[in-house]
Amino acid sequence: MHRTTAPTPTLGSRLVNLGSTGIVLGVHGLCLLAPLVSCSWRVVAVGAGSYLLQTFGITAGYHRYFAHHAFKTSRVFQFVLGWLGCAAMQNGPLWWASSHRRHHRFSDRPGDPHSPLLGGFWHAHLGWVLSGENDRPDLANVREFSRFPELRLLDRFKWIPTLVTGAVCALALGWPAFVWGFAIATTLAFHAPLFVNSLGHMRGSRRFETSDSSRNNAILAALVLGEGWHNNHHYDPSSARHGFAWWEIDVTYYAIWSLSKIGVVWDVRKPRGLSSARRRFSRQPVVERIHEGAARGTVRIGAD
Ligand SMILES: [Zn+2]
Ligand SMILES: [Zn+2]
Repeated sequence: MHRTTAPTPTLGSRLVNLGSTGIVLGVHGLCLLAPLVSCSWRVVAVGAGSYLLQTFGITAGYHRYFAHHAFKTSRVFQFVLGWLGCAAMQNGPLWWASSHRRHHRFSDRPGDPHSPLLGGFWHAHLGWVLSGENDRPDLANVREFSRFPELRLLDRFKWIPTLVTGAVCALALGWPAFVWGFAIATTLAFHAPLFVNSLGHMRGSRRFETSDSSRNNAILAALVLGEGWHNNHHYDPSSARHGFAWWEIDVTYYAIWSLSKIGVVWDVRKPRGLSSARRRFSRQPVVERIHEGAARGTVRIGAD
């Protein structure tokens, strides 16, 4: 039976989630072993592959699928996405989706679990995910997923995918791959999506006049597989595509689109109201162009 009401935390448990913090600090510490192991193109490739898979688990799995239903998939691939995201040390898929839905419901207002406007950069980046106060959220807003026992198990034993990644790298590929493919890749995959919560509401441009501080940031988009188009995302949270214009690189969407072509995912949701406006997107000032589109009725401007 899954929990639907959050228990009252004690003073100590509010300060920090010791289990989460211990694992996160431990994996960060393992990165210091990098000078002690040999580095080759092979282990760098293992690290890059590990980073891409774990980050995709967060961007496509935790975010676009579990939090926003941006596409549909099978129960098996749903678990694969949950496992990959869980490996990146941002807790289980139910915890993440529940927290993120509250982020959209209360964006930059009291109730938002990670607003940099309310709690500052470090709270939005790290504090919220390690806080003991957020460790046991009310999962009532993710009932459609909490009915799956395998997802509840991932949430309960959230460190197993991380530990398995480390064990596979060490036992199958050796200690250099353990450091690069596990410790460094997992640390980077942990931080990269968290920068969207922090910098994604602090640095960048705003195409849409949403009721929050979300920004579009091309550098973040490149590093976090398309998640940096965060203002676009707050405008249309259910869209599987975050890069609305052709030059807005969105690797997560390209992967989702590719998976849809081979039947792994389906019912991929498109941005609303942009089909005709998209063709006119050019490098002229974006806000000006969107307002032109709004005047013609081809683009809707407003809060999500
Ligand atoms: Zn946001
Ligand atoms: Zn979102």
